[in-house]
Amino acid sequence: MIKAVTGTKDILPADISKWRYLEELVRTEFSKFGYKEIRTPIFEETTLFARGIGEETDIVSKEMYTFIDRSDTSVTLKPEMTACVVRAFLEHSLGKQQVLNKLFYISPMFRQERPQAGRFRQFHQFGAEAIGSTDPALDAEMIIMSYDILRNLGLKELTIKINSLGVPKSREKYKKILREYFSDKLDQLSDESKKRFETNILRVLDSKDERDIKVVENAPMLIDHLDEESLEHFEKVKQILLASGISFEIEPKLVRGLDYYTHTTFEVVSGSVGAQSALLGGGRYDNLIEELGGKATPGVGFAAGMERILLACENENCLNLSPESIDAYFVSLDKEVSQKVYELALLFRRKGLTIELDYAGRSVKAQMREANKMNAKYVVFIGGEEFEKDLIRLKNMENGNEETLPITGIEQIMNLIKGN
Ligand code: AMP
Repeated sequence: MIKAVTGTKDILPADISKWRYLEELVRTEFSKFGYKEIRTPIFEETTLFARGIGEETDIVSKEMYTFIDRSDTSVTLKPEMTACVVRAFLEHSLGKQQVLNKLFYISPMFRQERPQAGRFRQFHQFGAEAIGSTDPALDAEMIIMSYDILRNLGLKELTIKINSLGVPKSREKYKKILREYFSDKLDQLSDESKKRFETNILRVLDSKDERDIKVVENAPMLIDHLDEESLEHFEKVKQILLASGISFEIEPKLVRGLDYYTHTTFEVVSGSVGAQSALLGGGRYDNLIEELGGKATPGVGFAAGMERILLACENENCLNLSPESIDAYFVSLDKEVSQKVYELALLFRRKGLTIELDYAGRSVKAQMREANKMNAKYVVFIGGEEFEKDLIRLKNMENGNEETLPITGIEQIMNLIKGN
């Protein structure tokens, strides 16, 4: 039997209502803050991610689904959205139409990671990007907006972690200090961190390996080596968060995986999902757009993992959606009426009602079982002696009341079912 590829998952009808609920809530929240939806292709030219995310990042160096297409172009299934949004922003000159572009997305992403709880190879993210302003208020808004979405889902075990990566100049200075610190402790680091010492030294800081954690404990922190401008920016972000009643933790080791961040980085972690606890993460990227060939334009954004959020909701028992139901189930009392039942059902459906009926010539009892399973609000019995007299019987499944009505009074029947 052919199975779904490792790390991918089917979302079956039984789970769809949760996904729809989440997607709708996300859309509503984003629109309150003035964000407009953007959709970009599933795949892009590989160079976009190599340049946009950084060659030395985990995503680009080992996780991308990259292939050469039939015209010898190297393309990659999108592993994240920021680079794609920036590419679209530049390609369509969105910056010329509006000083500040507030964009949001909901999309599948692809990364060839080692599958484990909370880590998939095809997963879904929603996220936002605000392009065109350096205002720290936007960093704060991004954090608050993303946090609000999680709170409005009913999640409680949440912690906001923030940090500042400053500007590249101060970061480069700090990297030298960090290199000095680690240089005589290399033998105490994990193999992965030894490699990162050479390629992407900041990532040693957020290693989860016990050996690295010990060495990192006493390492100098970037936050203590920030320049004036970066400190000021960070202070303003913190002030706005505090004034908005948002509690947060400062996490000096929060460097995040991508190269393009400047100033603020943040994550919201959940206490209810196990080891892969980051539900969302983001930050400011004031140099990315220039690196991708555009005019220097600042930006800030975040991405949230939908599978992980839904898992947190399940673990915290917070998405208590009412079970799906239908307006009415049309029961055929005898085979002769099946054509009529179909016609009537179509009439009702075209008026906006959700109607189900039997397609397998089953007994009345079996049809009633099906109606119950589908949570039908009404059962409409069609056939028998009543039907010969142009009457049909309706049963309200909530209170058991029955009514017999003339088939000519379709409007009246529909209103009854609609609850008018
Ligand atoms: P990132 O783009 O790596 O900052 O990830 C943002 C969020 O996406 C994370 O906090 C996770 O919730 C989610 N995420 C990232 N990678 C995966 C994955 N492989 N499987 C499921 N969710 C993921």
